[in-house]
Amino acid sequence: MNGYDPQNIFAKILRGEIPCHKVYEDAHALAFMDIMPRCDGHVLVIPKMPSRNLLDANPEALATLMPAVQKLARACKAAMAAEGISIEQYNEPASGQTVYHLHFHILPRWEGVKLKPHGAEMAKPEVLAMLAEKIKAALASSV
Ligand code: 5GP
Repeated sequence: MNGYDPQNIFAKILRGEIPCHKVYEDAHALAFMDIMPRCDGHVLVIPKMPSRNLLDANPEALATLMPAVQKLARACKAAMAAEGISIEQYNEPASGQTVYHLHFHILPRWEGVKLKPHGAEMAKPEVLAMLAEKIKAALASSV
C-alpha cells in the first residue's frame, strides 16, 4: 500500500484550495456533495486527519469521524425523503477507491431505484447547490 499524498483532491478541498458544496463541518470532519453522484443526495464525509483509507486510519480519528457519518446519514435520509441509506467505503484500487483520502459515501436509497455507476457523470453545480441546501436545512432542524 502506498502512503498518503497531501496533494490528493480531498486534501485540497480541506485546505480550501478547491471548492466544494459543503454541507457540514466540525472539528474532525467535513461533508460535501459528491461531484459525480450515484444518486440524488450523494454526500462524502471525510476526516480532517489525513489517512489514505480505513486501513491506515488512526482509530481515535475514526471514533471522532463516525458521529458525523451518522449525522449525515440521518440528515440525507430526511432531506431526500429516502427509504434507506447505503454507506460505502473503498480501500485501495482493487476495491474501487479512486481518491486516496479516507471517505465514507452516504447514499440515499429508494425501493427499486438502482445506483448509477461509480464516478460516471458530473452533476450540474446548481443541482448540487440545491441539494446541499436541503441537507443543510435537515441538519439545522435536527439540532
Ligand atoms: P472512491 O472511488 O475513492 O471511493 O470515491 C471518490 C469519490 O469522489 C467519487 O464518488 C467521485 O465522484 C468523487 N470525487 C472525485 N473528485 C471530486 C471532486 O473534485 N469533488 C467532489 N466533490 N467529489 C469528487
